[in-house]
Amino acid sequence: PLVLGIETSCDETGVGIVRGHTLLADALASSVDQHARFGGVVPEVASRAHLEALVPTMQRALDEAGVTLADVDAIAVTSGPGLAGALLVGVAAAKGYALAAEKPIYGVNHLAAHVAVDTLEHGPLPEPAVAMLVSGGHSSLLLVDDLTAGVTPLGATIDDAAGEAFDKVARLLGLGFPGGPIIDRSARDGDAASIHFPRGLTAPKDMVAHRFDFSFSGLKTAVARWVEARERAGEPVPVADVSASFQEAVCDVLTAKAIDACRSTGVRTLVIGGGVAANSRLRVLAEERAARHGIAVRVPRPGLCTDNGAMVAALGSHLVKAGIAPSRLDLPADSAMGLTEVSVPG
Ligand code: ATP
Ligand code: MG
Ligand code: FE
Repeated sequence: PLVLGIETSCDETGVGIVRGHTLLADALASSVDQHARFGGVVPEVASRAHLEALVPTMQRALDEAGVTLADVDAIAVTSGPGLAGALLVGVAAAKGYALAAEKPIYGVNHLAAHVAVDTLEHGPLPEPAVAMLVSGGHSSLLLVDDLTAGVTPLGATIDDAAGEAFDKVARLLGLGFPGGPIIDRSARDGDAASIHFPRGLTAPKDMVAHRFDFSFSGLKTAVARWVEARERAGEPVPVADVSASFQEAVCDVLTAKAIDACRSTGVRTLVIGGGVAANSRLRVLAEERAARHGIAVRVPRPGLCTDNGAMVAALGSHLVKAGIAPSRLDLPADSAMGLTEVSVPG
């Protein structure tokens, strides 16, 4: 099927077009520069930016794919989770396009779309698979039996998301926003073994109650204390070493628990999605550790890990192919949409 996907859950306006598993267009407009001086996404600024960017982004995607709206078989749109006002812009626009072009509409789950996008690069996802979703708002390990039917959570963060930890540590190092890509770059010049930061929920007692859960807030505090101690002593802060050591702590825990989840469920495929999946160290370490256990790692290219329209189109295409009923035209934007709901039922 030819499916168009619209994404507006946070600060990226994305429109993607796919045919089956083939990506035809992926147009993106970002309001990230407008949020940078606030050190985080400002919801109302994001909503207004979507309102301005959506129609031009739509036009760019259609041009890039060389198709018209009349050609598409379905329109998919992120229904949640995300910022309520931002979601409303995309959902309202998608309804308008669906109504005008008389196309079925699928309100889809943004988190499931972060997993589904991998099919555009690596083909159908072997099921069951373990999915590690690591983004700005979520960090979860999921068992995926049938992506159209929902996923089984194995564990999740009990406090901060991995991306949130990157953003907070970058801020305390004075590096800017969003922190993930900046720390990734800064870490390249640093020594990852220079400082030992804590690995959350890996103590023996935690491995019983929280085996597949994460915690990054203690790590963030440890980095803050370490930096403060340096400053109090009047010594310079080795930013690259702190970046590399912090990044190592995050990637060590993420990959160790993801592979443990695969081994304990007997699953041979680990798919990683969400903005933090773009991290260069995470990609290398996951590959290295998985290979030792005969587990295949699937990670989309960095540009498809962060928010985009292609991921929404990819999930929409998957739903159409599986014969799932489209959503009704009165479908809501659901800022707290849970992972058991892959699309809004018809
Ligand atoms: P969610 O998907 O949970 O709703 P979101 O859509 O805001 O949240 P994404 O766009 O998936 O999140 O990811 C953004 C996050 O990814 C930010 O926290 C950002 O710092 C982080 N990130 C992006 N690139 C990298 C990188 N190279 N290394 C580490 N983190 C990264
Ligand atoms: Mg973003
Ligand atoms: Fe996201």
